[in-house]
Amino acid sequence: MGGGGGRTEAIMREIASLRAQRDELDRRIRFFESQLRVGVGAVTAASPTTTTLPSSLSAKPDAMGSHAAAGDGGGATPDMIGRYRRHLLLPEFGVQGQRKLSRSSVLVVGAGGLGSPVAMHLAACGVGCLGIVDSDDVELGNIHRQVIHIEAYIGHPKVKSAAAACRAINSSVKVMEYRLKLKPKVALDIVRQYDIVIDATNCVTSRYMLSDCCVLLNKPLISGSAFGLEGQLTVYNHNGSPCYRCLFPNPSVSTGYQSCSDNGVLGVVPGVIGCLQALELIKVATGVGEPLCGRMLLFDALSSRFKTVRRRSSSCMVCGENPSFTQHVFMMFDYDNFTKSSESSSKPTPRLNLLPENARVSCREYKRVLDAGKPHLLLDVRLAHHFQIASIPRSLNIPLPDLEKKLPLLQQALNKAPAEASRGGERKQFPLPLYVVSRGGSDSQVAVAVLRENGFLYASDIAGGLEAWAAEADPNFLVYW
Ligand SMILES: [Zn+2]
Repeated sequence: MGGGGGRTEAIMREIASLRAQRDELDRRIRFFESQLRVGVGAVTAASPTTTTLPSSLSAKPDAMGSHAAAGDGGGATPDMIGRYRRHLLLPEFGVQGQRKLSRSSVLVVGAGGLGSPVAMHLAACGVGCLGIVDSDDVELGNIHRQVIHIEAYIGHPKVKSAAAACRAINSSVKVMEYRLKLKPKVALDIVRQYDIVIDATNCVTSRYMLSDCCVLLNKPLISGSAFGLEGQLTVYNHNGSPCYRCLFPNPSVSTGYQSCSDNGVLGVVPGVIGCLQALELIKVATGVGEPLCGRMLLFDALSSRFKTVRRRSSSCMVCGENPSFTQHVFMMFDYDNFTKSSESSSKPTPRLNLLPENARVSCREYKRVLDAGKPHLLLDVRLAHHFQIASIPRSLNIPLPDLEKKLPLLQQALNKAPAEASRGGERKQFPLPLYVVSRGGSDSQVAVAVLRENGFLYASDIAGGLEAWAAEADPNFLVYW
């Protein structure tokens, strides 16, 4: 069943991939047909393209025939009325607002949970040019929040999937694809081509880099973040608003920004923040309304409560009165080192190494203990909701934060375990070996140190934790991170 199931799945995946390719071709055919109907000459320039390093390509919405045809002094074009009549009927917005939108170029950095609603709304509302930056591929485990992607694109680049969706929504928008990780050396060239930047990376390293870049190039930056059940939103570097470094000069202050892969996130939370980022973009691009400049909006999903806090700084090295941050400094700046976080939020955190060798066993050694049925107790120190997702059978869960106060419970379990083992014919062993496991092997080391201090001298850490266990000892372990 297992082998046949895998083959069926591979065939289904192939079918889905072929269908996606067919849809992409259909979409391109429709695009060119629509260009013929509108009678635009610049079909080639406006055609959707895949661009990896387009530093020389203009991101200006110059090829948008339908938009440009609106003219300077005239009213709405038939295409504008056809697509955006509900916008035109808004007295605050009207033809002027729509025309400004159609002439704007926006760079969306990140095509994930935040970037999904941002890109879809910006395509739908008719910005002139939409650049999308992302280096990752579509994964099944991310679609719950990255709603621009569909199963047919699993394993394909996110920029390709997101761009196809945007073009399918609105073929008159010029969509640029940048399949890369935005680094200082290319950031200036790419960001320079756009009017407004949206930070949808949900990554603190990129947040500093994009903020510095936008200050240097004088571009408004609409920044959002979403973790767990909370979100944040603000507009940096626009109408006198501060930059990211004004608010967080030191990365350690922003430790609240963590990775979704570590902490989980409810899919609609980045959805809410992403929609609000699209709204701020519309306000900044058109001058309609009051963007979130100098204010930060905080969203609490559990209570459905929004509040805004005003933040202001005086001495900022990037945007302050005496800035020391030049384009040259920017190009040389080591953002990864500065924020001490990995480039990819999905990479595991660096390992601790605080125990002596004799206090640790490899996951293969532990597997031999388990396979031989040797009496022992396995303590899993992950938080309860992680333990409930997947665990090694017959392990005891005491989360690390509760360990010290639950030592009596552990002692009780140790006292009970040998009796069970003796029924299998083994002689009782005292003290019973105690193995400790966590997800990545760091918390378990802390736990073993605590246990040894408290008299549990035979406690051993399973090196590398469940991540190593799944990779080296048990390929069937349900990897959920
Ligand atoms: Zn600043």
